[in-house]
Amino acid sequence: MVGRSGVPRTSAVRIVSVYPELLGTYGDVGNVRVLERRLSWRGLDAEVLSVSVSDPLPTGGDLYVLGGGEDEAQQRALEGLRRSSLARAVAAGAQVFAVCAGLQLLGRSMAGVDGVVHEGLGLLDLTTSRLRERVIGEVLAATTTDIGLPVLTGFANHGGGTVLGPAAQPLATTTRGRGNDGRTGGPEGAVQGNVLATYLHGPVLARNPTLADWLLERAVGAALTPMPHDVADDLHDARAARG
Ligand code: GLN
Repeated sequence: MVGRSGVPRTSAVRIVSVYPELLGTYGDVGNVRVLERRLSWRGLDAEVLSVSVSDPLPTGGDLYVLGGGEDEAQQRALEGLRRSSLARAVAAGAQVFAVCAGLQLLGRSMAGVDGVVHEGLGLLDLTTSRLRERVIGEVLAATTTDIGLPVLTGFANHGGGTVLGPAAQPLATTTRGRGNDGRTGGPEGAVQGNVLATYLHGPVLARNPTLADWLLERAVGAALTPMPHDVADDLHDARAARG
């Protein structure tokens, strides 16, 4: 594997699992496991750093992964992230992958469990307010970003509704189920620079292995050896075909 600099990469890929005790709802910590396994199947080393909210985030990660969280856990994660060096790591070129509460936390603002609007990290140009009716259910979304697969599958469960600003692009458009703002046919997820975020659980990288590889390629700065089509790809295709 040849990295961004053209020099073969010898060091392990550093994946930082951000506050898994708070941001791990619906098995989202499984996303980290999928990333690690897909590197190891190719003979590449991964170093997974699971960092608790009581510890500082390392700045030298290649890929920072945030999952979903219940409202109170999300609030605690916000306090930790505010103190953290995540924005500096992103400015230095690290990639970020965030799900649901993770997406909301990286935005400009979000309405907390108390109804009060809290400032987010501002890494994504989006704002989140409370929806009248919680979004729960299966989602299919046609990708609008070049991530190498046409349809994303996952399930959503969130009480916040998100609107993107001009600097953030949607990751996809929902064709079944409801998107960021609770509408079918509306935007799903967000992409801005090194940050990719989605509302989808599953874990979403287990359901969409191509998305996992796309993130890994960006994190290592090089193309990865293609993997043979396996059972995870079959399941993705079967779900996507349900339309
Ligand atoms: N607590 C947030 C909401 O309900 C995020 C939920 C989640 O991560 N599943 O909108």
